[in-house]
Amino acid sequence: MRGYSRRDFLRQTTVTLAMAALASRAGQAGAAAPGSPDVTAFIDASGDELVLGGRPLPWWIEEFGLPLHVSYAPDIRANLAAYKDVFERLYPKGEVRYAGKASTHPAVFRLAAEAGVGIDVASPYETRCALEAGVTPDKLDVNGNAKDDGLLNLAIDKDMLIIADSIAELDRIAELAANHDRQPRVVLRVSGFPLDNVTSPAIFTAGEWSKFGILISDIPPLLPRIGEMPVKVLGFHTHIGSQITDLGAYQLVLGKLLELGGLLQAAGHAFEAVNIGGGFPVSYVTQDEWDDILARIRDGFLAAKAGDPSKVYLWGNALGGFSMGPDGEPTKAWEGELFTARYPKETMLEAILTNDITVNDRAMKATDALAAAGSPALMIEPGRSIVSDSGITLARVAFEKKIADVHDLISLDLGVVNYCEPIVALPARHWALATGLKRSDPRPFETFIAGNLCFSGDMLSRLKVAFPRKVIRGDVLLISSTGAYNPTFFASNANSFPRPARLLLEANGDWTYLKHADTYEEIFS
Ligand SMILES: *Cc1c(COP(=O)(O)O)cnc(C)c1O
Repeated sequence: MRGYSRRDFLRQTTVTLAMAALASRAGQAGAAAPGSPDVTAFIDASGDELVLGGRPLPWWIEEFGLPLHVSYAPDIRANLAAYKDVFERLYPKGEVRYAGKASTHPAVFRLAAEAGVGIDVASPYETRCALEAGVTPDKLDVNGNAKDDGLLNLAIDKDMLIIADSIAELDRIAELAANHDRQPRVVLRVSGFPLDNVTSPAIFTAGEWSKFGILISDIPPLLPRIGEMPVKVLGFHTHIGSQITDLGAYQLVLGKLLELGGLLQAAGHAFEAVNIGGGFPVSYVTQDEWDDILARIRDGFLAAKAGDPSKVYLWGNALGGFSMGPDGEPTKAWEGELFTARYPKETMLEAILTNDITVNDRAMKATDALAAAGSPALMIEPGRSIVSDSGITLARVAFEKKIADVHDLISLDLGVVNYCEPIVALPARHWALATGLKRSDPRPFETFIAGNLCFSGDMLSRLKVAFPRKVIRGDVLLISSTGAYNPTFFASNANSFPRPARLLLEANGDWTYLKHADTYEEIFS
């Protein structure tokens, strides 16, 4: 039996399934790094059906039903450790706070606690979940733009770091502080950065039109007032958005937050913390694959205009992130979200720390700029990049049909609410067969993929996905990199389908329920 690590497997599926046209190039991506922690066999694709964690696919289906979400704990540990390692090497005053909303459960939060990583929480129950998982209050960031007094009082009581989202919230914290015998520790969330075009507007949370934060221009007039408040303002926070592939966006906000730190010091306060939020990107596909996707979107669009609809690659012959030029042709530049990242995960942090940023018109290495600012704690809140690539989802094919005469469409027993992320709108993940792996078909099969809900936006892949054979009713498919947001943040019981079971799997095959599939009674509780 041949053992695959999950990453090996994804590369394997890249080669054979997702992007057949790119087989040779993707194949050169190479095997998983030796010594990476996921070398234990998690997914074995050597037989006719997948073997997951040493157990055959039918065992999992019998035990948990379909659809099914599985997160592989060693991958989460490896991602947590990788961020910690960058800080230890480059800026020991760095602190990692896992953004708990990306995958929320005491068992997941425990992995963070064990790694010495804190949690960014944004609700009373996320906070309770973190505390019950053993995360100490000093390692919690309390975020959110609508905190109630209960959460603020708890945060003050236990000395958690409060991210104040507005001046009104800061004033409320000061009022509540009167009933406590300690000064609340606060950082001010800032927005209004000139960051057009760094990421798609839906996931850009630090501009002028953001529901989050205090406008950066409102900070200087606020500073003289904070000396009179019974509150310790330690510094500043921002969160640019999710899947931020642009290093320049981080460099810009870090520079600006350090400038604000200088103003805080000039007003007579210590500058102890700067928090640049999360958003560290995941590379869902390689650059070559991404270039191919963009070329196929454009070519398919143009071919359809010229009378050949068979090459359409994006659902509805849409243009995705291309805009239409004056000539009616798609522009060359893609303005939408990027699903490939030059600096994925912790390499973005490394790139931030080792390159120049600009502070008060002076360019200097970020670590030097931090030192010059008095070496505040540098906090980050990665969510997606900690858990995304730890997760897979299994779902069954219900039916296959033709649409618009020429395109194939398969429907799965999984709805978009339990899979997709509205915040990253163009799923470009790897899809693979989990059953009938030995069956062959001389003709390649490319298809759009729909979910099971009664609304037309329920598309699981609006990009055509290539499989090595025709996909038929009863086949089980595997979707990779579904560990962030998909199974939790947007999960619902739309159409009264149960939310699927979620599992956390260990290298030795042990698993923990993160959630069992809803029962009828639970849906209607
Ligand atoms: C969602 C969120 C994060 C995490 O974002 P990712 O893209 O998952 O890394 C971090 N900080 C705040 C305040 C958030 O709302």
